[in-house]
Amino acid sequence: MARTVLVTGGNRGIGLAIAQAFAKQGDRVAITHRGSTPPADLFGVRCDVTDSTQVDEAFSAVEAELGPVEVLVNNAGITADTLLMRMSEEQFTSVIDANLTAAFRCAKRASSKMLRARWGRMIFVSSVVGLAGGAGQVNYAASKAGLVGVARSITRELGSRNITANVVAPGFIDTDMTAGLSDERKAEIRKAIPAGRMANPDEVAGVVTWLASDAAGYISGAVIPVDGGLGMGH
Ligand code: NDP
Repeated sequence: MARTVLVTGGNRGIGLAIAQAFAKQGDRVAITHRGSTPPADLFGVRCDVTDSTQVDEAFSAVEAELGPVEVLVNNAGITADTLLMRMSEEQFTSVIDANLTAAFRCAKRASSKMLRARWGRMIFVSSVVGLAGGAGQVNYAASKAGLVGVARSITRELGSRNITANVVAPGFIDTDMTAGLSDERKAEIRKAIPAGRMANPDEVAGVVTWLASDAAGYISGAVIPVDGGLGMGH
């Protein structure tokens, strides 16, 4: 059955791969973007997820065009890495706002329609760093760990209404976010990953579409690693 899907930050990287995977299986797919031209087969809504008015308006636009959001993929995210001693409060709170508070805004806005429909899927794109930590990533790791608490609390609140909330925790994925790493750092990373390589965004997208499918209807509050074994044990 075709569903209405909203992917935040679906204009590029992992979000775009997720949006395209849903579109390929026949779902009605909307993405948020901040001004770039969205791909022609996806319904693009302009939205900065740090602004609750824009989030509300984006959901209203999707509802008017495609119907209520049945599958929400909270994917938009940023990094602002620096060591704890150098990290400003603004560097900390801005990453929390974009990665964690924004997911709360979107989940809250989606929940009333999901409750009415007595069906919904929420998927939060976290990171291996959320549970393992990362030097220079106190802000990012805190935001990504917070998503686990969000998904598990939503599971407890809404689980009886056929609404699931899960976390996908990617390792190193080949996107703009990792493009800036030096070749030396990339070689170090590859050495630490049992799979011996970074992943491409489609490998995350496949897990996200599966979590939204009927086959995964009894999975909720889970943290699913997509990291080539990097985070094993966390
Ligand atoms: P990219 O940097 O390639 O893309 C980030 C996306 O988030 C863009 O679409 C961007 O929009 C959007 N975004 C950022 N801030 C906002 C905002 N305030 N409002 C709306 N949209 C925003 O990142 P990836 O595709 O690599 O990452 C996607 C998700 O996966 C992130 O949450 C990231 O933390 C997570 N992740 C990535 C990993 C990796 O190795 N790449 C590993 C683990 C997790 P715009 O184009 O307008 O900037």
